[in-house]
This record gives sequence, structure tokens and C-alpha cells, in this order.
Amino acid sequence: KLETRLKIIFSHLNAASFSSLSPFGAPCSQTSTLQHKDDDYVVIPRNLKYSLRVTSREQYASMYMDSIREPDMFWNKLAKDFFWKKEYATSQPLCKFNFDARKSPIFVEWFRGGYTNVCYNALDRHVIAGRGGQPALLWEGNDLGQDSCSTYQDLLNYTCQISNFLLSKNVVKGDRVCIYMPMIPELPCGMLACARIGAIHSVVFAGFSAEALAGRILDCCPKVVITCSAFKRGNKLVDLMGIVDTALQLCLERENFSPETCLIYENPRVASNKDTLWKEGRDLRWQDVIPCMDKKAPVEWMEAEDPLFMLYTSGSTGKPKGVVHTVGGYMVYSAVTFKYIFDHQPGDVFWCTADCGWITGHTYVTYGPLLNCATCVIYEGIPTWPDAGRYWQIIDKFNVTAFHTAPTAIRTLESSGDEFVKKHSRKSLKLLGSVGEPINPKAWWWYFEVVGEKRCPIVDTWWQTETGATMISPLPWAWPLKPGSATLPFFGVQLALVDENGNEKHGPCEGFLCIKGPWPGIARTLYQNHERYEESYFKTFYGYYTTGDGCRRDDDGYYWITGRIDDVINVSGHRISTGEVESVLNAHPACAEAAVVGIPHKVKGQGIYAFVVLMKEASASEELRISFLQSVRKEIGSFAAPEIIHWVTGLPKTRSGKVMRRILRKIACGEFDNLGDLSSLADPSVIDDILNTKP
Ligand code: ATP
Ligand code: MG
Repeated sequence: KLETRLKIIFSHLNAASFSSLSPFGAPCSQTSTLQHKDDDYVVIPRNLKYSLRVTSREQYASMYMDSIREPDMFWNKLAKDFFWKKEYATSQPLCKFNFDARKSPIFVEWFRGGYTNVCYNALDRHVIAGRGGQPALLWEGNDLGQDSCSTYQDLLNYTCQISNFLLSKNVVKGDRVCIYMPMIPELPCGMLACARIGAIHSVVFAGFSAEALAGRILDCCPKVVITCSAFKRGNKLVDLMGIVDTALQLCLERENFSPETCLIYENPRVASNKDTLWKEGRDLRWQDVIPCMDKKAPVEWMEAEDPLFMLYTSGSTGKPKGVVHTVGGYMVYSAVTFKYIFDHQPGDVFWCTADCGWITGHTYVTYGPLLNCATCVIYEGIPTWPDAGRYWQIIDKFNVTAFHTAPTAIRTLESSGDEFVKKHSRKSLKLLGSVGEPINPKAWWWYFEVVGEKRCPIVDTWWQTETGATMISPLPWAWPLKPGSATLPFFGVQLALVDENGNEKHGPCEGFLCIKGPWPGIARTLYQNHERYEESYFKTFYGYYTTGDGCRRDDDGYYWITGRIDDVINVSGHRISTGEVESVLNAHPACAEAAVVGIPHKVKGQGIYAFVVLMKEASASEELRISFLQSVRKEIGSFAAPEIIHWVTGLPKTRSGKVMRRILRKIACGEFDNLGDLSSLADPSVIDDILNTKP
């Protein structure tokens, strides 16, 4: 089947058609850079319409070497695109750092002495350049027929009004503001308003419970909490204000803390029971105060290393960490990755489906696109509302050119059937993105063939909350793609695969994924917990930033994330990543989703326990179990065949959509009373469902 697929893809890639498609008239040099053609790989013909920044792996290699050998020259050139109120010092290195925990403390600084403002660069700079009339945010509500368009000028005015409100409440540089809102334009505007006055925003995903919200509020003690009365996600009504009220009650009881002000956007689309919850003196209605504010607001010029925001990690491997990013490095790194990885050009319409409550929503919904003066879509609802065609319908409605989503959404939509995709044209799309988890080849092919109709490259972007922006990703059209590989490091990113003793391995190999030197977007600390920062990232292997992920480098130098280090299973001395086994299970036609964990085994050391969600039309049977086992035996080897296959109706996921294997591990080992921190679990009923079924 694969061969036929490759044939289809290569049939329009003969040299003649390729050279005519190349913007520089050069024949295809892309395939020549791959040494190992036996791998399953894909080259997508370039289209003359797109003026590419990086056109070949050779050009990338030369730029990449510049970024490593001459980082100051490289980043200085890119940082100059932004407005700096006061230039950073160029008489000394642009970056100072210590990555060696034996010579503590760990620190990273970029663009020291420079003063700038991220909001000014994301809004004022474009308005001053005459682009105030360009659409900035195209908003689509949960229900059909709800939408709005705001230009850069609109966004600037609105943001200034919010800034002025915060200033009127004595919020000053360094104060924290907690934002707990659905995906409405007020959310990114609230973030920008904080950035404008130097307040540190802490956005909490509006799917979190009162308990989880209270914990995050107590962690940073914000002066103001910004929220919304209520909203709809799919057909579910979320009473946000009620949750906030409970959370603030918990904060009072536990640490006698209350924010001075709670600003509540009253959602005109949803009725709420505001009378019962209104707290005089604390709560203010957005619509009463914001429109009265002046549409011009002062800018707080921030030193490059002043904090911009704090944000919690997803909590896949443990208690979420409150990551802190700073102004200068984050601004430059988020904007530059956006521009190159999504090949952003004027006129493009970009849509990243991430919620602003996650780092992807900070970097690729808000800061990266707006710093590049992009037009972007934000959507309030879920992919399957009112049906599984909603994403594709929105793409047609707004003529989206680049679409970026997560493997969990791709798998959900794949299992809903192709007819939902095919109903819509998707002809505006030029590229697709994936982020958040390894994308298994079956989902990759579906995304590529059905959604992108084989004409759109997929940028599989690997990164973390802590890295600020993408670290490993293809540059579209510049080199062949391999389904499941994030391919090559971004400029300035020095990857290292190390063994268990911390020695770097070279050539094709597998190891712990580490990063050797500092890049501008690296998190500078964990909020008020620098010790945990040093412990989590710098003490496993001295001299490196340790990512916590495992990774393989193939003969072509491509990187393949194999999953979390904690998730590696050792069966009879064979180290095998969960991702590898899951990928085979996922490829089974009856499988909608699968996750595997290790369980103690008397003979083998560890055995494999698989949780499998079946496609709607499939039902569990002994034959099916055997057929799953056979596919693992055939694709990997008998040793990797799961001991147990547990048919379940869903997998426990973080609210950002990642499988929480640490919970599954406990369930598989029978430790039901000690499931660990569940605050980031999206749907607790999934656990009950699993516990109520027998493997
Ligand atoms: P926590 O750090 O609290 O355990 P988390 O690591 O899930 O949570 P995030 O920062 O949101 O929090 O996720 C980063 C992780 O997501 C990466 O370390 C990696 O495991 C996974 N990841 C992200 N993108 C990709 C990708 N393209 N391919 C493979 N894995 C990815
Ligand atoms: Mg992590």
C-alpha cells in the first residue's frame, strides 16, 4: 500500500515538472540530500505562488551553521526587525548563560540592556507602518453564525482600553494578572494588555476546575483575575463565573488571599446566573468599565530579561510546572519560528487550534502571528461541533492557508470518517502543522492524503512549554518529509542525544534528547522555584538542558521523538518506547487510539499492557485481540507483543489533549488508590470507565 502511495506522490515529481515549479528554476535538489531512500519519505512539489525563505536542505544547513558559529550575528540580524526603545548592548555577547549545575546557578540572558515592549511590537508597530486596517483576528464562535473580525487598529484600541483599566486598578510592572477565559478575542487582548504595562499574565485554561484554578491563583497571587460569565463548548455550558467564585472562596479559606479585582466579561451569547455570585467591591462587569477607557495607553518599556508571562506545563509527567518566559528572547524566538516554519507571507490566513491556556496558544495563536502582522483565526468551540466537519468548514469560510493542530484532534477526526472532510473544499490550504505529541504514521498519512490532498507539507513541530517555541521541525518544501519525524533542528538549536551516563552519542543512534546551548526562547526559571527549574532540566545530565524525551537520529540526520523517558519499557533487556508499540497498534484498522505502559513481569522484567479504544464500527473479540498481537509481532517482534489488551472507551488525557501514561501505569499495576496528581486530567469519568471494565 505504501509503495502505491509513494508512486502517486512521485508521479508528479519528474525533473521537468519539478524545475518548472521551483522558484529559482533549479531542478529538484531535495531528494539528493537523502542518503537513504529506502525509508518511507515524501517530497512535495513547490508551488510558484509561494516565495520561500528556505528552499533546500543545503541552504538550511548553511544558515544553521551560521546560527551556531556566529549566534550574535545571526540573532542580531533577526532581532533588528523589532522596535527597541533602547538597543541591547552589542559590545558584549548577546547571550550569557550557565548550563552546568555544578557551577550553579543556572541562568540564561539574551539581549541584555535592550528595552522593548512585546505589545508595542505586535500592534503599534504595524499600525504605525500603515497596516492598521488589516484584519488581525478572525473569530469564530462555538455556534454556527457567530463570528467577528478585528483589524490591527481595533485590537490596539481594545488592548489599550484593557491596559488603562488595569492601570486604574494600580496594576504595575511585575504584578501578576490571572486570565481565565474562553477563546474569545478578549483573551489575547487581555494578554497583550498585560504585556503593554509590564504585568505578568498567567493564563489558565478555561476547562480547569475550581480546585486547579485556586492552586494556580495561590501560586502567583494576582492583583486582578480576568474572566467571563459563561460560555459554550460544543453543547456543554460552562459556568465560568461560578467556577471562579468557588476558586476564590478556596483561596480565601486556604491562604486568606483574594485578588483586589475580578473583571468579568459578560458573554452576550450565553445567559448566566450572575445575581447569585456577584461580589460587591471585588467584581466588575467588563462592559461597564472597559468601553469607558481611553483608546490610547502608555507603553512600559521593559528590559529584555524582565518576565513577560508565566504558564503551567500540561502535567503529563507530574505536577504542572509554572514556567517563566522573558520579554526579549521570547519575542524574537516566537516570531522567527512562526515566520520560517509556517512560511508566513502577506495575505496568508493562519489558524492554530490550540487554546491560549497552553504554550502553543501563547506562541502560535497570539505572539508569533501578531508579531509577524499575520491574520489569524481563533475558534471558541471543539472540532466535532456541531459535527466533525467544523474545522474544514471554518477553513473554507476564512480561506485559511496554514492550519496547525494536535495529533489528538487529527485522530478524533480521522475516526469520524472522511466524508466530513470531503464535504468542504480546503482549496486555500498550503500547509499543515502538528504539535503536542508524536504523530503516528497512520494519522500522518490521513492528514496528508485526505486533509491536505497530498499537496500540503506537514510541519511536525516538536517543542515544550519550557522551550518557548518550536525546536525541531521541517521547513516547508525545503526537504523531504518522513511521516512521524519532526526532521531537523531549528536555527540556533543544538541537539544532543546522550547515553545514560550523560555522554553525547554521534551519528545515527538513540538516546536522551538534550540541548547543548541556549536559544533565545528558553524558559528562565519556574515561578518562585528556581531550585525545581535546576533540578528538572539541568541535573540529570550536567552541562545540558534535559528535555525528558527520548529520541532517535536516523541515517539522514532526521530526529524521531520516541516518547517520554519515563515511558520507556524494558522487556527482556529490549528497551522499547511506548510510541513505537502504540504506532503499530494505531495502524490497525480497528484501532481509534492506543496507549501502552510497562508492568512488572517475573521473567521479562517488564511486560507491555495496552489500552485500546476501538473504532466505532469495531467490537472487541478474541480474534481481534489476536490480530492486534500479530501486527505487533510482525512489525516489531514477538517480545513487544502486549501481555494484556484492555479495551476501553477513552484514554485519560491532560486538558491539552495528551495521554497521561503515568495514570495508566498505576491502573495497569493495580494501584487504584494512588493515581497521583489528577488536577490536569481533562475528563475524570474516563478513569471510572476504565476501572469499571476488565482487561
Ligand atoms: P509536563 O511537563 O507537566 O509533564 P508536558 O510535557 O506534556 O507536561 P508540554 O510542555 O505541554 O507539557 O508538552 C511538551 C511535550 O509534548 C514534549 O516534551 C513532548 O513529549 C511532547 N511533544 C510536543 N510536540 C511533540 C511532537 N511534535 N512530537 C512528539 N512529541 C511532542
Ligand atoms: Mg514536559
